[in-house]
Amino acid sequence: MERALPAPETDSLLELRQNALFQSLYGKLFMPRPIRARIDASALRHNFARVRQYAADPKTKTWAVVKADAYGHGLLRVAHALNGLADGFALLDIQEGIALREAGYGQPILLLEGFFEARDIPLCARYALTPAIHCIEQLEALEKARLASPLPVYLKLNTGMNRLGFTLEAIESMKARLFESRYLGALTLMTHFADADGARGIAWQMERFQKIRAIFPERLPVSMANSAAILRYPETVMGWIRPGIVLYGASPFEERSAADFGLKPVMTLTSRILEVQEIVPGERVGYGGLFTAQKPSRIGIVACGYADGYPRHAPGGTPILVAGRRTVTAGRVSMDMLTCDLTGISEAGMGSPVTLWGDGLAADEVAASSGTVAYELFCALARRVPVVES
Ligand SMILES: *Cc1c(COP(=O)(O)O)cnc(C)c1O
Repeated sequence: MERALPAPETDSLLELRQNALFQSLYGKLFMPRPIRARIDASALRHNFARVRQYAADPKTKTWAVVKADAYGHGLLRVAHALNGLADGFALLDIQEGIALREAGYGQPILLLEGFFEARDIPLCARYALTPAIHCIEQLEALEKARLASPLPVYLKLNTGMNRLGFTLEAIESMKARLFESRYLGALTLMTHFADADGARGIAWQMERFQKIRAIFPERLPVSMANSAAILRYPETVMGWIRPGIVLYGASPFEERSAADFGLKPVMTLTSRILEVQEIVPGERVGYGGLFTAQKPSRIGIVACGYADGYPRHAPGGTPILVAGRRTVTAGRVSMDMLTCDLTGISEAGMGSPVTLWGDGLAADEVAASSGTVAYELFCALARRVPVVES
């Protein structure tokens, strides 16, 4: 089913297109706002290769987790970059699965939460999408759908996350039905770890998982490991692993950096300094005047705000790169702009390049300063930010 995929957009191509549109409308050249998100396809492939170093057994297969528009990196762009590397793609929305099929991808596709409506079941069959089944209602809907041939299914087991899935008791009570169902095709047992990045670890969930696995008459294939488990718990790395955040070059751990694991940032959010304000001590900056100059200060105004996906709750002091130098934000983030301290960085001025996160400044650091995780920063990248590939 593979076919030629569109060539990646380049920065200049994108600008040309914008310019052509703008010129046709207004008869003059368009100066784009300087913010860009650059997606580095080679870093993505590098990170995939790093994951495979943790999963050296060739029998281990990899679902590249591309839910949420590939963690904000663009579903088709990421699928294109990982084509030929990932054994399959795992996502949430059936529309995204169908979009991958229609773009020519023939790999297995896993719907991590299965179908949300009975009417989607025939679509799973038609597009060869593998649904997860996490509740009895989904199983009943599958039986009622009376498909011509059984669907391969991931049985989602709740081993302690207590979000979706069947517990040991639930499986015990429905095992006759599971073993006899003519509508269930090949089964894989899946579970998800609640604390692979934290203190509780995974052993307690593994124990419950093995108990459930023992109920089945045959030894069924498994899928357990997310990014944190892949990096920390080799005993979970078997069957089909499900890396997400590591592919995008961020760390699943609070206390260890992505660079520690040899991961490279994939998304780099850049912009420029629009203007510089020289202010005297006592002057304040931005809404609410949250930053007060203690000495004569140079404040850089950056073309990036919360409407671009930069977290509004990033406090003053959040790291930022200007002209390749590390400095900090100053004052409150507004919709289209944020402000940073350029005092002492004499080479930085109007037009200087700014990196909000990515190459040279880990998204994890900006996230930690803002009380969140890089996952959220990536997913929040706004549609208005032009994306370019490198
Ligand atoms: C999102 C998700 C993953 C990937 O998690 P990361 O922490 O990004 O590796 C794996 N499995 C399931 C079920 C998920 O929902």
